[in-house]
Amino acid sequence: MLKRVLIANRGEIALRIIRACRELDIETVAVYSAADESALHAQLATRALCIGPARAADSYLNQEAILSAALAARCDALHPGYGFLSENPDFAHRCVQAGLKYVGPSGDVIRALGSKAAARTLAQKAGAPVVPGSDGPLKDVRQAQTLAEEVGCPVLLKASAGGGGRGMRQANSLQEVPRAWQEARAEAVACFGDGELYLEKLILNPRHIEFQIMADTQGHVVHLGERDCSIQRRRQKLVEESPSMALTPQLREEMGRAAVAVARAAGYVGAGTVEFVLSPGGQFYFIEMNTRIQVEHPVTELVTGVDLVKEQLRIAAGLPLSFSQEEVRVTGHAIECRVNAEDPERDFMPCPGTVSLLHLPGGPGVRVDTALYTGYEIPPYYDSLAAKVLAHAPTRLEAIRRMRRALEELIIEGCPTSAPLAHLIMHDAQFIRGQYDTGYLDQNLDRLLELARTCDRLMEEEP
Ligand code: ADP
Repeated sequence: MLKRVLIANRGEIALRIIRACRELDIETVAVYSAADESALHAQLATRALCIGPARAADSYLNQEAILSAALAARCDALHPGYGFLSENPDFAHRCVQAGLKYVGPSGDVIRALGSKAAARTLAQKAGAPVVPGSDGPLKDVRQAQTLAEEVGCPVLLKASAGGGGRGMRQANSLQEVPRAWQEARAEAVACFGDGELYLEKLILNPRHIEFQIMADTQGHVVHLGERDCSIQRRRQKLVEESPSMALTPQLREEMGRAAVAVARAAGYVGAGTVEFVLSPGGQFYFIEMNTRIQVEHPVTELVTGVDLVKEQLRIAAGLPLSFSQEEVRVTGHAIECRVNAEDPERDFMPCPGTVSLLHLPGGPGVRVDTALYTGYEIPPYYDSLAAKVLAHAPTRLEAIRRMRRALEELIIEGCPTSAPLAHLIMHDAQFIRGQYDTGYLDQNLDRLLELARTCDRLMEEEP
């Protein structure tokens, strides 16, 4: 097994990795920026090293500093977590060159799947359906217009290097293609330093369904069922659940098989996620494969009982998967609500602040992954995820009830969060019926927020 792992990340995911390592008797080396001196991950690791100033570019994205720390601390492996350098093929490659085991697929695999335009081609070859659109990247706006005419509007112009819903623009008619092209390109250059675009037909009212993949170096590739991540605000996930209400056993079987085929064709090793959009008519289309552990991985852990991070570490050590496809059993239902330090009343503006009081929910079937503590000052430099609240129960309705009471127990004082909005979603008829698609939240947000305001007003009026 591994002896000492450097964790090239921060926040809740760094803690998650530390926990898995401790249970496996692996030492951990945390790295932290000047803004994170009092962060929990720096406290809980076996050892912690400062790697630079607050700005991510100078610390958590500083490859040189991180690799030096790993070598100085004599680590034998590196876990990148999610975000930051986790999908950077050069970094994965440099880790291996420096003699470290990289917890994830090889740099070549990350590169092949990291270009979303190229990943489409790979998926197609593996026999997975892809959204009608371009074969590889687009040359110019004229080609985009020709293709848009061919597949029919509305279409999406998407950045090959895209992520987090950025670098993506919709064109509802051929006339709108040049504007969408320009905007998508500008955003792609600004966010990813790469303006390459491809085109996909916009699937109307789809679900976002993703499959968790695990693959070892012995050639075993399995999936651990799906997560439905259709509750999104502006293409960013807010609530995830498993199993999905939208899948029949047959569809699950087909999509799982397609997901495994894509991973196999890519020569995949480690934990990965194959993402699909599913049309209301039951047609599914590959959209991308993420080559890292996902924020929402605990949903799968709760329903399958598999510790995905431990499994990642085992695979990096060269051990075979500890279970087979036949041994994967989904039990009950799990829901995750992301609690972001953002103010829904101010267009979800990130609101870092000092957590003056923290109370976390507990009890049967509840899990909270967070790096917050009372007195913690949330730094303004990084993403706004403050906590992930999860509920697991025998049935979906019980899981919804459990999530409601977990969110009612949660107290984060000092900064506004998206928790009250998540609580409202857990009471919304459409969500409870499971009848929602990726447009649900954007369409219902104003109504939900108005409801919250009315409730607040009424509560204040009470004598
Ligand atoms: P990112 O890598 O930026 O997250 P994705 O390609 O995964 O981008 O897409 C993000 C979200 O955008 C999806 O979850 C889905 O809601 C929506 N989306 C992407 N492609 C399509 C499509 N062709 N049709 C409809 N919705 C799409």
